[in-house]
Amino acid sequence: MHPFVLGQEYARKRLLEFLGSRQAQSGVIWGMKEPGCLICTSGGRGGKRAGYSDEGLGDGSWWYFGQGQSGDQALDNPANAKLASAEMSILFFTTREPTAREIAERGGYGKLFAFRGEFNVAGYEAFVPTEGRRQGDRLWRFRLIPTQGSEGLWQEVEEQWSNEADIHAWQERLIGREFGTVEALLTMQEYRKRSAEVHRYARHRAAGVCEACEQRAPFIALDCSGYLEVHHLTRLADDGPDAPANVAALCPNCHRRAHYSMDREQFASILRKRILAIELAITRDRPATGARSCFARAEGQGPG
Ligand SMILES: [Zn+2]
Repeated sequence: MHPFVLGQEYARKRLLEFLGSRQAQSGVIWGMKEPGCLICTSGGRGGKRAGYSDEGLGDGSWWYFGQGQSGDQALDNPANAKLASAEMSILFFTTREPTAREIAERGGYGKLFAFRGEFNVAGYEAFVPTEGRRQGDRLWRFRLIPTQGSEGLWQEVEEQWSNEADIHAWQERLIGREFGTVEALLTMQEYRKRSAEVHRYARHRAAGVCEACEQRAPFIALDCSGYLEVHHLTRLADDGPDAPANVAALCPNCHRRAHYSMDREQFASILRKRILAIELAITRDRPATGARSCFARAEGQGPG
């Protein structure tokens, strides 16, 4: 649900138009048109002289440095806080300067942004450069993990699920997870397995009935369950691990409506309330084993 093609280069104007943003300079961009989405651009900063730089890791993930040009970086500045919330999809671009010929052809010096894919923030940690201009500053770096590629883990989750299909046990397990610093140390495989688990949980919770229109799933899937798709209630992308209250299992029509309809914001707000009520009801009937109230995140997210 974004127009960017892997590897293709774009002018900054295109990035801003997609989000409905006017941010002229920042490396982390957001806007009203796509509230579940951040655009992060890398390049033109950091490097050896500064003592740090964004870094692509061999497994397809990235370390991406937060915002803050001098001194210690604050985790509560708007860009870093959005990254740290781990609740938004990241569209990631690397940056380069135009060549003389491109400047002549395009009539401008604007940088070019190459699309590198859609990512989630899996965690973050402090990083203090030991050399360069930023030596001794406490910086934040965020681990970006690509949203594609969890398919191979479905079988593993499916097998585990059949042994432990008690919805209360799964709810407790999924909502007990903390997002943030500890998750920086997760392997990509573990991160993706968590994503598969929360998707499986949502489909189990829905039991073959769409959680939006409350109609039965339109057909039976290959695994003999009613076919439903898992929708993420806050991010642009539906992939990634999260709390059960942030995902809904929907029929394909409702899922398309959630992404593409004119009234998608209102639809999302109704859906968030409904899912929260369902999750609270599951918590209420959970056998008493010191159930924690973990709905603060979900409750803070939408109108009501
Ligand atoms: Zn539906």
